Amino acid sequence: MEFDQFMLDLTRRNPSQPEFHQAVREVAEKVIPFINTEPKYEKARILERMTEPDRIITFRVCWEDDEGNVQMNRAYRVQFNNAIGPYKGGLRFDKSVNLSILKFLGFEQTFKNSLTTLPMGGAKGGSDFNPKGKSDAEVMRFCQSFMSELFRYIGSNLDVPAGDIGVGAREIGYLFGQYKRMSGEFTGAMTGKGLAFGGSPVRKESTGYGCVYFAREMLSKQKDGLENKVCVISGSGNVAQYTAQKLIEFGARVITLSDRSGFIYDPDGLTDEKLAFVIDLKTNKRAKLSEYAKEFRCDYHPDEKPWKVTCDIAFPCATQNELDEDNARTLLGHECSVVSEGANMPTTYEGAKLFEESKILYAPGKAANAGGVAISGLEMTQNAMRLNWSHEEVDLRLQNIMKRIHEQCVEYGQEKDYVNYVKGANIAGFVKVADAMISYGVM
Ligand code: NDP
Repeated sequence: MEFDQFMLDLTRRNPSQPEFHQAVREVAEKVIPFINTEPKYEKARILERMTEPDRIITFRVCWEDDEGNVQMNRAYRVQFNNAIGPYKGGLRFDKSVNLSILKFLGFEQTFKNSLTTLPMGGAKGGSDFNPKGKSDAEVMRFCQSFMSELFRYIGSNLDVPAGDIGVGAREIGYLFGQYKRMSGEFTGAMTGKGLAFGGSPVRKESTGYGCVYFAREMLSKQKDGLENKVCVISGSGNVAQYTAQKLIEFGARVITLSDRSGFIYDPDGLTDEKLAFVIDLKTNKRAKLSEYAKEFRCDYHPDEKPWKVTCDIAFPCATQNELDEDNARTLLGHECSVVSEGANMPTTYEGAKLFEESKILYAPGKAANAGGVAISGLEMTQNAMRLNWSHEEVDLRLQNIMKRIHEQCVEYGQEKDYVNYVKGANIAGFVKVADAMISYGVM
């Protein structure tokens, strides 16, 4: 199988979808050499089939704003691959949402879910609806209209959406409420639910905690730890908040957070109290991070990203392609030696190449941020069993899952003198899905 030809065919089949091309390129570069040693995968054309979604559902969402004006958005659900379990993946509400972004996310999700060791296929969905500046009532009306269409395509054994950028506890409540109303059933057709209605302990913390647990695994393989490490985080939403919380607990020093308007630099480091301020600011008040700088008298850098700040470890936790080649070079120049991606594909292709070549501990999102979907998987299990595990039990399971993901990356990514986590995650994620697809025959 020839890489250049494969990518040429893919880009021809999917024109004008740069994020999707980028996500596939990163996987194909690692998986094609592996496929070339295992002819059964090439014969069954598994990679070609895995890069074509099972189906894409597109629909119109109409709703009324507070002034009574009719508004319209476009929405999607990309059901990418259900070879190893029901479709599973978040919903994103952001003005940037388009098919290229959702296909990249759905494709990544298929590999990530496979790595969790749980039976979940890959999907992603969302809308170009922008929740910023909307009232609760407007968000509710949008969510209800969105779910009035989506409900017929999802279900606890079919497709189980969750949150992502712009879809947090408030949106999940409105969406699940409408699902329950439309379907006439109370089933675990969504995850990330509130604890009062079928949610799992640790779900809201799980992506951030998992990302830190993964960094801890990488460091512990090198007989090192997180204590006193200086950490730079981007983002200040769900993933960034709980990445910061676990790092503080482990004795690391978190000195930055960011949002769309800039970043804060707090050289003393965040504390639990400061983090509580951030969580309230971003989750309840939905305000800008510059308020943090005013409250705690630290530097605020408008319209900038935090990658120029000297650190030991970087946790990109905001969005895709937020860390480019120059940023990667700057981080490496400052001797940053660990990058654990909380966001999906936050590093550009060129930036990721630099990290790989430098042989630092570089964990791609599909491994490092898989804790979120893993706990979503455990939320599905608890819903099916109609019981709730304790916080401690779920947290322990999360730590074990992150350990297993790390082991799989090492198994497939061990090179002579270091572990290539990108290679390990891609091949390990591929094998399970590919073997299931071969078992089903041609479909
Ligand atoms: P949130 O909406 O809670 O937070 C997103 C954060 O990123 C906010 O601080 C936001 O800034 C910032 N951000 C978003 N877009 C941009 C942009 N274009 N430029 C700069 N900053 C931006 O989302 P999550 O924390 O849930 O998700 C963050 C990342 O993690 C995404 O890549 C998501 O796909 C990934 N992820 C999330 C999981 C989860 O369980 N939530 C699971 C696995 C991966 P502002 O506050 O100004 O909006």
